[in-house]
Amino acid sequence: MYIDEIVLENFKSFGRTTRIPFYEDFTTISGPNGSGKSNIIDAVLFALGLARTRGMRAEKLTDLIYNPAHADEENTSGPNEASVEVVLDNEEGTLSRSQVVNAAGSDNVGDVDTISVKRRVKRTDDNYYSYYYLNGRSCNLSDIQDLLAQAGITPEGYNVVMQGDVTGIINMTPGERREIVDEIAGVAEFDAKKEDAYGE
Ligand code: ATP
Ligand code: MG
Repeated sequence: MYIDEIVLENFKSFGRTTRIPFYEDFTTISGPNGSGKSNIIDAVLFALGLARTRGMRAEKLTDLIYNPAHADEENTSGPNEASVEVVLDNEEGTLSRSQVVNAAGSDNVGDVDTISVKRRVKRTDDNYYSYYYLNGRSCNLSDIQDLLAQAGITPEGYNVVMQGDVTGIINMTPGERREIVDEIAGVAEFDAKKEDAYGE
């Protein structure tokens, strides 16, 4: 499974609808400082609900909505809503139809050769709201996270290696480094379950 494309609407510096296609094997993004490269990574973390532990660069969710003040357009009022859609290629069948149907809570998920995960954040006068969609069906963050976990995409995992992570790993003690290997190999989950079982 790989990311086929990302569609950004009013997300951070992307003040208009932007589609970013990705290749199956390897894609690099280049551009001048401040042009929005890291914002694209933030978009993926935001949409897939991976941000909690991997640190998206925003203090509050509404900071993710395009703000014209950043572009020196002080007098324009910005949009009140942003969204990111991550389209995953599932042609190899990493996730089965029933897994997708289960997570979406609906049979009406279309063709599961592509899986679309979309998140929207909306600002009102005194609050903000977050919405998730799986192949167009409204669902909860936990539904999305559970589904992605079945494809090995988790907030605790190393699907996303952030700036500084590599240095962090180099500076770890051998014991700590071992924990990372266990995490990636999927052994850590069983260690935790074993601990729990002993505790009972
Ligand atoms: P570098 O090469 O320095 O790492 P980059 O390409 O990764 O740069 P980003 O950090 O992705 O750049 O983008 C930073 C830009 O995004 C800044 O110019 C900032 O003003 C803009 N930005 C961040 N949040 C918003 C927002 N809510 N609305 C509009 N622009 C925003
Ligand atoms: Mg950057």
